[in-house]
Amino acid sequence: MTSAPSIDGFNWDYAPAPERTRPDIASEYGLFIDGEFVEPVAGKSFKTVNPATGRKLAMIAQGDEADVDRAVKAARAAGGRWSRLKPTERAKYLFRIARRLQECARELAVLESMDGGKPIRESRDIDLPLAAQHFFYHAGWADKLHWAFAGCQPKPLGVCGQIIPWNFPLLMAAWKIAPALACGNTVVLKPAETTPLTALHLAKLFQEVELPPGVVNIVTGAGETGAAVVEHPGMKKIAFTGSTQVGRHIMHALADRDISLTLELGGKSPNIVFADAAIDQAVEGVVQGIWFNQGHVCCAGSRLFVEECIVDEFVAALRERMAKLRVGDPLDKNTDIGAINSTEQLSRIQSLVEQGQQEGCILHEVNDEALPRRGNWHRPCFFTGVEAAHTIAREEIFGPVLAIMTFRTPEEAIRRANSTPYGLAAGVWTDKGSKVFNIAAQLEAGVVWCNTYNRFDAASPFGGCKASGFGREGGRHGLRAYLKLAGGVA
Ligand code: NAP
Ligand code: MG
Repeated sequence: MTSAPSIDGFNWDYAPAPERTRPDIASEYGLFIDGEFVEPVAGKSFKTVNPATGRKLAMIAQGDEADVDRAVKAARAAGGRWSRLKPTERAKYLFRIARRLQECARELAVLESMDGGKPIRESRDIDLPLAAQHFFYHAGWADKLHWAFAGCQPKPLGVCGQIIPWNFPLLMAAWKIAPALACGNTVVLKPAETTPLTALHLAKLFQEVELPPGVVNIVTGAGETGAAVVEHPGMKKIAFTGSTQVGRHIMHALADRDISLTLELGGKSPNIVFADAAIDQAVEGVVQGIWFNQGHVCCAGSRLFVEECIVDEFVAALRERMAKLRVGDPLDKNTDIGAINSTEQLSRIQSLVEQGQQEGCILHEVNDEALPRRGNWHRPCFFTGVEAAHTIAREEIFGPVLAIMTFRTPEEAIRRANSTPYGLAAGVWTDKGSKVFNIAAQLEAGVVWCNTYNRFDAASPFGGCKASGFGREGGRHGLRAYLKLAGGVA
């Protein structure tokens, strides 16, 4: 689908490198409650499709209030023994899950790419290793919680309701389940409607490692299933990752309840490139920031601010790099940009791109070759001629669309970067260390990357401020959100 790159006048192309592993996909999946796959009470189901082909992959059980109630009862019943288990024993379970994730990494990576549309290179090299890392990392904390919060007696909260989105389905499940379990809690997880498969296969790994029944329960379904998780009176904590709109709704729904809440929401993150930056490195970082996972990344660097004196040079280099990105089959190892997760998401991206053009911004798409007829595709693109008031500079697009703007002074860069309701992440590119520290300290963002972008580690807390939510996941901060601390200050 991508035109063959030309080097010294010689046209060449990559031979296709299709992934040959095929995971075992059942024709239908039940809910995972109390250690077993069970039918939903109402007997309803929905299909999950491969967004690269539009074909059905499997039928998935649709959970409702009655199913959430069963799951909460199972989680509560399991909670007593699980929380009293010797912490080193809890750690062993987490360790075993991490090892099984590594052993099954290839199948799970393929499954993730089939269900969600992301390139196999990303699910294989990023999602799976990080998911395993989160279980390994939290296995290490399980018996050291009293050291993490010195002087306190850390206690689990109880049953945790966890709701996750479709952009990193298995990784988000690992981010949420691993710390909850390490701290002695039990879990009811609600995966996204379009990407339930890897969470359900993770449940099979829980069975294999003989995780006690009820410690993790997985209730699949749509938004109403998520709402039933939020509203269940047995929940002691809700951890939500998703849109700011649904996050706000959850906050309202829980306002009068004594419940712990963390929200990881949307973003419109700035990536700031100074003239003194290593330009080629910055171009790679910008590419990584916006075109990774088709731009389906909450912390995507979707607003690029380039110092005015280098903007022409930078845009030319970016355009050249963009021309080499290969859009196509997520299961081809050469693919850089896979399928857009759903037809709804594709229409949303397309309508925002159209609006950008209508408002007078200039669209740059370098690859004009035809995209496959089936499936959901969007070429990587960027806009110039963008002003702060334009819709594409304000609204989260959650697709491979970059808005480029300029600045003249560091003060202007900071002011423009912070001029958004969101505060999830930011990037700064410069060769001056002092400038990095100075600017990073003034950016309103939960995470600031310097001379890199979209880097994650289980030991490093992640989360936002302003309309991007509150609470952290990962590191010691992430553990705090799953504990009651008594008898000290932490
Ligand atoms: P979403 O509509 O908010 O959905 C997120 C999850 O919430 C899904 O499992 C969804 O179920 C469920 N849900 C929907 N309505 C609900 C309700 N009323 N009550 C409880 N749960 C409900 O978001 P999305 O469109 O799937 O995901 C994209 C958004 O997530 C973007 O805005 C992105 O920025 C954000 N995101 C943030 C982070 C972060 O760490 N800050 C990470 C990833 C994504 P269904 O799938 O069945 O609708
Ligand atoms: Mg799917």
